Amino acid sequence: MKIGLIDIDSKIPNLALMKLSAYHKQKGDDIELTQPLFADQFDLVYASKIFDFSVMPILPDDVIIGGSGFDLTSLLQPEVESLVPDYSLYKCDYAIGYTSRGCNRSCPFCIVPKKEGKFRPVGSIFQFWSGQKRLMLLDNSLNTDEGHFKFILNQLIENRIKVFFAQGLDIRLLTNNQAELLSLVRLWKRIHFAWDFLGIEKSVIKGIEILDRYNLKNKSMFYVLVGFNTTRDEDMYRIETLRKLGIDPFVMPFDTRDQYQRDLARWVNHKAIFKTVEWGEYRG
Ligand code: SF4
Repeated sequence: MKIGLIDIDSKIPNLALMKLSAYHKQKGDDIELTQPLFADQFDLVYASKIFDFSVMPILPDDVIIGGSGFDLTSLLQPEVESLVPDYSLYKCDYAIGYTSRGCNRSCPFCIVPKKEGKFRPVGSIFQFWSGQKRLMLLDNSLNTDEGHFKFILNQLIENRIKVFFAQGLDIRLLTNNQAELLSLVRLWKRIHFAWDFLGIEKSVIKGIEILDRYNLKNKSMFYVLVGFNTTRDEDMYRIETLRKLGIDPFVMPFDTRDQYQRDLARWVNHKAIFKTVEWGEYRG
């Protein structure tokens, strides 16, 4: 069979499509990444849409569509889900996958609790890692469970893999033991944390003290969500507090069409500007 795979809006190699590719290659099918325009040239077509804000292309009725931007309940069949992704689909030279699903929190702007439910470990890196030097972990909140975190970090450390925690770690849950493991693992990119609203200030400060104890401050950065349910004063307080503590803030606008949120993001995220120009003097 000739199988077409359509990646509507992914920003990174699409894990579901890579698993579908692996599944159909096992069956001897021909696989091709394709565009909506050519969908009728295949025996079977899958399309994946990750974001709800992206535009849905016109597709024939028989295309199988999935992804959280289309339907939060769509899942791969277990026999597909369990496969090592076909990284050759995107010529991807790093491993991508997750070892846990879900999250125990319920941040109102996040689809994870609705889509995946409570946190639970689901496996190890060996289900998707096949010797690559770098690995992107998609776990939503890996440090929720101390035992699972240790299990995964030890696998990364023993195999000298450079890791990127793509969905970040929860600063409120950071312990000394976790920070010690983080100081031993090889990092591909900085560790991401988030300070999304003012009410968690004490936990953020405590977490940063732990990062400092293990020399992880300059290997970390903090997302600061603005425009959701915080005031402008609260936004500035979080940004300046992080700056004073020697931590790099990175502003995430909730609504990128909003001028204030866009200006603030550009001011903070452009480090040369952030270090030399005061907000009151910044003209966008
Ligand atoms: S902690 Fe992260 S993954 Fe969990 S609900 Fe909040 S934003 Fe989503």
